[in-house]
Amino acid sequence: MLNYHIYFLYLQKKYEMSESFDIRKWFENREELLVISGPCSVESREQLMATAAGLSEIDKVKVLRGGIWKPRTRPDAFEGIGEEGLKWMQEAKQRYGFQTMTEVAVPEHVEMALRYGIDILWVGARTVVNPFSVQELAECLKGTDVPVFVKNPIAPDVKLWLGAIERMEGAGLKHIGAIHRGFSSYDETPYRNAPLWEIPIELLRLRRDVPVITDISHICGCRELLQEVAQTALDMGTLGFMIETHNDPDHALTDAKQQITPESLKKAFSKLTFKKKKVDADAVVLQSLRKEIDEIDDELLNLIAKRMYVSEQIGEFKKQHKVTVLQMDRWKQVLEDHINKGVNLGLNDESVKEIFEIIHKDSIDRQL
Ligand code: PEP
Ligand code: MN
Repeated sequence: MLNYHIYFLYLQKKYEMSESFDIRKWFENREELLVISGPCSVESREQLMATAAGLSEIDKVKVLRGGIWKPRTRPDAFEGIGEEGLKWMQEAKQRYGFQTMTEVAVPEHVEMALRYGIDILWVGARTVVNPFSVQELAECLKGTDVPVFVKNPIAPDVKLWLGAIERMEGAGLKHIGAIHRGFSSYDETPYRNAPLWEIPIELLRLRRDVPVITDISHICGCRELLQEVAQTALDMGTLGFMIETHNDPDHALTDAKQQITPESLKKAFSKLTFKKKKVDADAVVLQSLRKEIDEIDDELLNLIAKRMYVSEQIGEFKKQHKVTVLQMDRWKQVLEDHINKGVNLGLNDESVKEIFEIIHKDSIDRQL
């Protein structure tokens, strides 16, 4: 029943569309950097209008975001303003010509968001971890062509992220994007959510066609890191940003530490270096360096294969002499030596450790 209602709202909206910026066109060419900005949570009419007014001074911002229902870790925190906030989103849209975007977690959110003319939806990191919830959202959107962005799940699991995208595709949606917002981690990192760039890279490797943008606010968790992470994201070829802004960030009801004013956002943009996505065909120097890299990679592969062959022989020896496969003292010593040697060669200790852990694990598997 809800799906029919949602479909009706979608059709109604489709015939009313006359915005200058159209997210569907962006999906087709993806040339312009997509900038989505606005408060973490919509708190009051004044707050949203003041923030939207500031953002309207920044040409790059095309989409106004605003959290209406907030997934909070603890139950006593502000859980969002609800339906009333959607009216203000609609007002801000009419006044400043933004497209609007909000987070949905259950079908009722979708229905209400569409009723108030929200143009784009996103599925939050806490929802994406639950395939039942994602499927429910997908079902209720069936038949519509509402643009949906899927945030990465809080856990570093590329398959879960991909699965949520596939569920949306399964419902027939044609405009689906991904938002990289970092991953929860127990390790000490300067970030609120560790970026683990290798995960969005892996998503792109598997699905070249899915546009990925970067939510630098939830990666950083604080203002100080935003500029640097924004530059890294651009260097990684991001297609856009989601950035939380607030007219009075220090007094924000949610995510106060990471929100910035629209004025600061404008300044931050002016300090970014935008780079070309493609290398000029005549970049001979780059081509020859890449050839060198390819040759080194070949050598590395040959060496790893050679190492595995020796390792198998060691395995045979251990079997014959009834010695355990894992020799902890030796492994500890080998790893320490390699890390020291690596550091002396100017390599990163963590990376050397990870590389040899993978190699060692493969060796052990072969000896078992
Ligand atoms: C948000 O964008 O405000 C939000 C709650 O995001 P996430 O799902 O990435 O935590
Ligand atoms: Mn937030």
